[in-house]
Amino acid sequence: MSWGGIIHAFRDRLPLPANAKVITLCEGNTPLLPAPRLVAAMGGDFDLRLKYEGLNPTASFKDRGMTMAVTHAVAKGAKLVICASTGNTSASAYAARAGISSAVIIPAGKIALGKLTQALIHGAKLLPISGNFDDALNLIRQMSNLKEVEVVNSINPVRIEGQKTASFEILETLGQTPDFHFLPVGNAGNITAYWKGFCEAIPQGRRPRMFGWQAAGAAPLVDGHPVKDPQTIATAIRIGNPASGSGALTAAKDSNGRIDKVTDQEILSAYQLLAQTEGIFVEPACAAPVAGLRKAIAAGWIPKGSLVSMTLTGHGLKDPDTVLSLFPNAPSPIAPTLDAARKALGL
Ligand SMILES: *Cc1c(COP(=O)(O)O)cnc(C)c1O
Repeated sequence: MSWGGIIHAFRDRLPLPANAKVITLCEGNTPLLPAPRLVAAMGGDFDLRLKYEGLNPTASFKDRGMTMAVTHAVAKGAKLVICASTGNTSASAYAARAGISSAVIIPAGKIALGKLTQALIHGAKLLPISGNFDDALNLIRQMSNLKEVEVVNSINPVRIEGQKTASFEILETLGQTPDFHFLPVGNAGNITAYWKGFCEAIPQGRRPRMFGWQAAGAAPLVDGHPVKDPQTIATAIRIGNPASGSGALTAAKDSNGRIDKVTDQEILSAYQLLAQTEGIFVEPACAAPVAGLRKAIAAGWIPKGSLVSMTLTGHGLKDPDTVLSLFPNAPSPIAPTLDAARKALGL
């Protein structure tokens, strides 16, 4: 049977107004890929499965929450959905699909190129602010009482409901419970959602230990206080005061997991290793848990034979500039001859 999106698949486990018209791009049902070459390259000895959320319709996990949020917005009669975003402006696509307007408040100059192009092509009204994501979120909070406007940020609880469905899919695909689940942590909605999903699917008994990863320059949950001017190349998690921070801390505590941090250098190294060992291209934020896995292996936290699942939150094509910064020297042209090609390839 063909896949009809997460609301269709998990309707009995999602809160929705009766008779709501479902706004969907058939998100979800993303692959869970084994990654033996990555694990071997890191010196580990366990089974790693990568939930590749970059293969959602707008190329990030945000679609799972947005099908729920925009379906709710339309049911309430909203004419405009608005969100603060680090760039993954899935809202603009779902609003277009619903035939309503969208506005996105973004930190000026800090949005990955691919994300900016998505918002533009879907016709979103872009409101760059001279401030960071935390400032954008503050502004959004003040706008949430305006009539006809539906705020679809991760402070919107139905987003979390949609995002929890990734946990259901992981459990269904594996047919068993992973020992660990790794994912990046920015505004902390996703780790909160995964933990909710695991708790609902496994009301009693063993659940995965949740290991969430922040970037070292934007690690308020690890450092124990908000970060005023968060800095990291992983723009999707460049957040100094996460809205769902307490959800992340609860997930880590109740699952006997942890929230930890990795440096930008570790992120960039893991980003390339993942692409070159497994053929999976992600945006830098998604490489935070990959770098975290390397740290966990080195620290001896992952017992031999464990089953580890990991969320790769978004597609690498969203952020081409980061790749180009790593490979600044484009090769120069050669003569179109066999000799020149052999020489250039060292054959
Ligand atoms: C939004 C986003 C994150 C951060 O998720 P939170 O729910 O804010 O913790 C990580 N990666 C990508 C690609 C994102 O778009």
